Amino acid sequence: MAQIYQKSYYNGKIIDFKFANLSIASSAVLYGLSVYTVFHATKDGLVFRLPEHFKRLQDSAKIIGIDMPTGFDYDNFLHIIKTLYKENKPNKDVFFRATIHVDELVAGTRSRGVHSQLSIFMYDAEPIVPRNGARLKTSLWRRIPDNAIPSRAKVNGAYVNSVLARQDAIDSGYDDCIFLDMAGHVCELSAANIFLVRDDVLITPDTSSDLLEGINRRTILELAHNEGITTQVRSVDLTELYIADEVFMSGTSAFVTSVKEIDARKVTIRREGVAARLSSLHEQVLKGQVKQYEKWITSL
Ligand code: PMP
Repeated sequence: MAQIYQKSYYNGKIIDFKFANLSIASSAVLYGLSVYTVFHATKDGLVFRLPEHFKRLQDSAKIIGIDMPTGFDYDNFLHIIKTLYKENKPNKDVFFRATIHVDELVAGTRSRGVHSQLSIFMYDAEPIVPRNGARLKTSLWRRIPDNAIPSRAKVNGAYVNSVLARQDAIDSGYDDCIFLDMAGHVCELSAANIFLVRDDVLITPDTSSDLLEGINRRTILELAHNEGITTQVRSVDLTELYIADEVFMSGTSAFVTSVKEIDARKVTIRREGVAARLSSLHEQVLKGQVKQYEKWITSL
């Protein structure tokens, strides 16, 4: 298990992680009524696309209808992140997980007029899939449709869907799942977006396929565009993945990782292909090494 750092933010204060506990009677625990985001920081304190993560957290709360904790604005958020980073002094790259929990007790199934609070903790930035190539299994479980639990919002409770599908993939000897939407189109992985390359065109499912609008998905599309790679955002059929020249994923915890097998069919990993190119560019961008993309870095 990834190491969790000692200092966390909870109930308006920086406290020891072991004391940051939600009540068993809170809506967060009873109904999974929390929204969250996870973002990457290098050991040198360079955070990737922090304003976008903050905005998505706000948007998730807005979609679900959760009232914001008092004093929740970007400046406060940044101040807490900076303080945690300084107190924990990581000597490795880390992930920050920031969550807005509805922590009102026995509130019943409602979201408004109930108390919420922000929690943040840090843990080692270990990838959730093997970086040298992941093996994926199409899930029997479909992605929750946007008109049941909105996929655009990162809602904790919805991750039971991801757990079901990923555990099924692991039980079958794979690293992760591929979700299809209710119409049978390719959607995403348990916690990453998916891309394929066919005839030098980079393709990713469009947001009407019930997927999370990943911040790295958007980044990959922007990087590819600036690199002169043709991109298409459209519905994708599963069989297109089987015959693709390359398949890869993007996500904060999955980084940009190639896929080497889908449903017992081999996928080529090209040493100098589009995935390799974008993955290495993405890595340099995360480290703040590319001048053109320094605009995406916040220094703690
Ligand atoms: N899809 C899902 C379901 C996810 O949980 C994640 C991880 N946040 C992603 C995609 C990738 O999003 P991002 O690039 O913003 O990390």
